[in-house]
Amino acid sequence: MKENKSQKNIAESIKQWVRPEIRALSAYHVPPAADYVKLDAMENPYHWPEAMVDEWLGLVKEIELNRYPDPSASALKDSLRKSMSVPDGADILLGNGSDELIQMMLMALARKDSKGQAQTVLSVEPSFVMYDMVATYTGMNYVSVPLNDDFSLDVNAFLKAIEQHTPAMIFIAYPNNPTGNLFERTDLQKIIDAAPGVIVIDEAYHAFADDRFKNEAGQVDNLLVMRTVSKMGLAGLRLGLLAGKSEWLNEFDKVRLPYNLNVLTQVTAQFALKHQAILDEQTAQICQTREKLISELSKIKSLQVYPSQANFILFRTEKNRATTIFESLKTSGVLIKNLSPAGGALADCLRVTVGMPDENDIFLDALKQALQ
Ligand SMILES: *Cc1c(COP(=O)(O)O)cnc(C)c1O
Repeated sequence: MKENKSQKNIAESIKQWVRPEIRALSAYHVPPAADYVKLDAMENPYHWPEAMVDEWLGLVKEIELNRYPDPSASALKDSLRKSMSVPDGADILLGNGSDELIQMMLMALARKDSKGQAQTVLSVEPSFVMYDMVATYTGMNYVSVPLNDDFSLDVNAFLKAIEQHTPAMIFIAYPNNPTGNLFERTDLQKIIDAAPGVIVIDEAYHAFADDRFKNEAGQVDNLLVMRTVSKMGLAGLRLGLLAGKSEWLNEFDKVRLPYNLNVLTQVTAQFALKHQAILDEQTAQICQTREKLISELSKIKSLQVYPSQANFILFRTEKNRATTIFESLKTSGVLIKNLSPAGGALADCLRVTVGMPDENDIFLDALKQALQ
């Protein structure tokens, strides 16, 4: 009896005190993955050579965990600047993953416009879910422009949306997640020219793609380029980077928590970037393996496979089959991402991360079995 009463009181309290838009959200769900062939999260499947691990452990031994980390992470910034050849005119800001950079930017931009309305964050649909989530919980107005049926960008609709909503922020993932494609560069150029506020080109998958906007960072006033080391093989470190004009970055830096990059991340990332050749080799291997996986998937008549410039592949099953196939793969011990519940353009779609060759073979076998 007592318990029920207390539960009721908590529910009432939550209703009274928690922001309604937060109550309406569901927390970002990450399924447990122990013992699965894990092909759901765009991770690099490869490990470091043993000698490299030993060298790293030597560095870790020297770390003083009793001290706060360098609040500006300046040594790490220097390594990243070199490793990603950030243009001279661009400053850089680091985040605990690029997710945190999205949060910092939108916290700084979440003001009301002159009519007292929440300002708009504009992107495309489907795209990376964090843009919508963070816009919502920072109290901003999120608007997305549907992609064409082949997941290309409808540039005219996008330009119209810019005119209609005067967005404070535009996010374009290039390549896009979860579709895997690059948009037309000339279309993005038009959007950059028309952007009234800031535009972020999110290059989380730059290592797997043929094109990038990185060299424009710091050259165009309102263009920021965002990157992460997560998809390059360092997802566990949580490290993202924003490059662009220092005037913008200085504002966003004000909402950064002082020690957002812990000492283990700073030391380890610097070490890993010193051995970038290893990461680059792994990336090249993933790109090669991707082509093989695309070609194998394309042989399966009942699937529609989309081209990919990222380390994952999106494919569409026959109508209303995606969830059954996803569950069957799971029973076979293979975890991929079921996008079908999101509905809309993603109905019947599944997304698989490119794994090691033997993992991809296990996936393909399980998939063929699921399709029988
Ligand atoms: C994975 C991903 C990110 C997030 O990267 P983290 O640095 O791990 O937070 C950002 N943008 C896109 C498009 C992604 O797919």
